[in-house]
Amino acid sequence: MREHRSLTPVGERADQSIIVQSTSAPVLRGQMPGGFDYVCGCCGQSVLVENTIDGEIYDIAFSCANCGGLSTAPQRPPSQPLPKNLSVLPQGAYKTAQPDEIPAGAVLVSEKNARQYQTEIGTLSRGGQIIRYEDVLYEIIADVKMLLGDSYTEIACREKHWRVIGSPSGYSRHPLMDLIDRVRQMADSMADANVNTTTLNTSSLAQLSIVRRLYQRFKDNPSWETIRKQAKAPHTFTHDVLTLAFVEHLHQGGNGINILNALDGRGADIVGTTGSDRFIYIEVKTPQTLQSAGRSATQDEANKVVKDAFHKAQSTDGGQLSPNHAGLLVLGAWHLTDTSIFRLNRAIICEFGKHRKFRQHIAGVALIHFNQQHQITRLAGRPSGLLGVTPPLELDLKIFTVVKLTSNPHYTGNFHIGDS
Ligand SMILES: [Zn+2]
Repeated sequence: MREHRSLTPVGERADQSIIVQSTSAPVLRGQMPGGFDYVCGCCGQSVLVENTIDGEIYDIAFSCANCGGLSTAPQRPPSQPLPKNLSVLPQGAYKTAQPDEIPAGAVLVSEKNARQYQTEIGTLSRGGQIIRYEDVLYEIIADVKMLLGDSYTEIACREKHWRVIGSPSGYSRHPLMDLIDRVRQMADSMADANVNTTTLNTSSLAQLSIVRRLYQRFKDNPSWETIRKQAKAPHTFTHDVLTLAFVEHLHQGGNGINILNALDGRGADIVGTTGSDRFIYIEVKTPQTLQSAGRSATQDEANKVVKDAFHKAQSTDGGQLSPNHAGLLVLGAWHLTDTSIFRLNRAIICEFGKHRKFRQHIAGVALIHFNQQHQITRLAGRPSGLLGVTPPLELDLKIFTVVKLTSNPHYTGNFHIGDS
């Protein structure tokens, strides 16, 4: 006999999704092996769901035919991603004549929980606006400052110190302050009626606008507070921006994906799913060696970067890619030259040839960086005030996220990233 678990009794809520049982038969039936039954949380008598597993049903309430009581399946835990294979029950009460089958691997959620996930992952739409070009730039700076809040205050405070005492050894300037400086200089120059030609620093502009876009997109994610706080440290700032870019990229590729709350170096950074029982854990590394702009990594540096990344992600104590799950390793930088990509790829293929037995759960290594589509170096003459329609999004179009995935030929897991 299957295990019986009790649903949780609840009062009625306006935005609830309810299934009403009209006979003594269960209303839902799952397909996955090793399941349990949900029984009414009020009378404990009626079986409402037959053979379900953990993570298959979130926030659906059931009205019992036996006692008329209302009880619910658990809420979606914070940071839990939802797969593409998703059934959403709209708010309201629904009757079924016979048990509905839940397809194998699918997840059934309430409209409320599905919307929460969309908000967290930033796919609920937001509008654009018409403004002057320099104002677009000032607005990007203002938005990033506002999103970071007191973390920005601390970064700016340290920047002041840096300006006074210069650059003592062991202190590196925060990359965000460098980006903001360059973008502000551009905006000031455009706003100055005496300046005829403004040199556009497109890479700084593109990088700052991608920071803004990713922060805005993920500001409702349960991990946002952690990301905002640790943006104070130059290295975690870069790491987290690339992590968000990778989540965005995979989500666009049709994967169920979310950021893990423990972005503190102990657990993996990202979790992906293609069904209620299939997960992949993703670790993002942003080695310092790859962060110097414009310079290609030597083959020795590339070998070391790849070797260290594998080593850190797999170390037995505190390794992020446990052999119990499918794993993916990501190496990221603001920008990688073609030569760096070539050398890193060579190192990755070589590394997969070693310690095969211990790496069978690692699906591959992805390289991620940002690239510009159009190189605009100069804006001849000052535009006459309005530049027509210049929504902030247009700046984003000049930059895109590039991901190159190298698969592990010895991978034995069944999770495959549905990359576009
Ligand atoms: Zn009941």
